[in-house]
Amino acid sequence: MNTYANNLTQTKDSQTALTIQNAMTILKEGNHRFVNNDTLNRDLRGQINDTSTGQYPFAAVVSCIDSRIPTEIIFDQGIGDIFNARVAGNFVNQDILGSLEFACKLAGSKLIVIMGHTSCGAVKGACDHAKLGNLTAMLENINPALDKVKTADGEDRSSKNLDFVNKVAIENVHLTIARLKEDSPVLNEMIEKGEINVVGAMYDVKTGAVSFL
Ligand SMILES: [Zn+2]
Repeated sequence: MNTYANNLTQTKDSQTALTIQNAMTILKEGNHRFVNNDTLNRDLRGQINDTSTGQYPFAAVVSCIDSRIPTEIIFDQGIGDIFNARVAGNFVNQDILGSLEFACKLAGSKLIVIMGHTSCGAVKGACDHAKLGNLTAMLENINPALDKVKTADGEDRSSKNLDFVNKVAIENVHLTIARLKEDSPVLNEMIEKGEINVVGAMYDVKTGAVSFL
């Protein structure tokens, strides 16, 4: 399964030719190869040369800083393929939205992926109302998702309840997409015109698989 020339460095022409659906397919196929331990043999040194005068990434991924989720590796991509914005809890704020506006409006990426993951330490911290330095304010970005996930009377809402933690992580992805559309008129207009798309995803730390929501 390898529909596109995934081992080639993206150029202006290849980026222009790709549709939003092509971008999704490349990421899905790349993760499929990763999960199956069948990743492409890339000439990274060559890709440094090929991208030295410009970059034409086809997608931008917002994901957690979690060390188990290196974006290019889990999607089996090379140099110059995808923009990365990583912050604990994979939310968006003004800085990340500005980065995504650069990625899509100025640098031509077709797809934004907001990717949460199972067993997320940041989500666990939010569930437990952790307080520490700047972490306290950062975790407040996850509180809307925490508040939105309802539980039965008496059900544990702490990080000990992994099912709850993972539900909050999924809700956080949905709310982050809504926040992106609301707080970035630039990206929202591109979405409405069909120039780009934004999709949610969850990475499973037990299997390496990405599920698109
Ligand atoms: Zn995380």
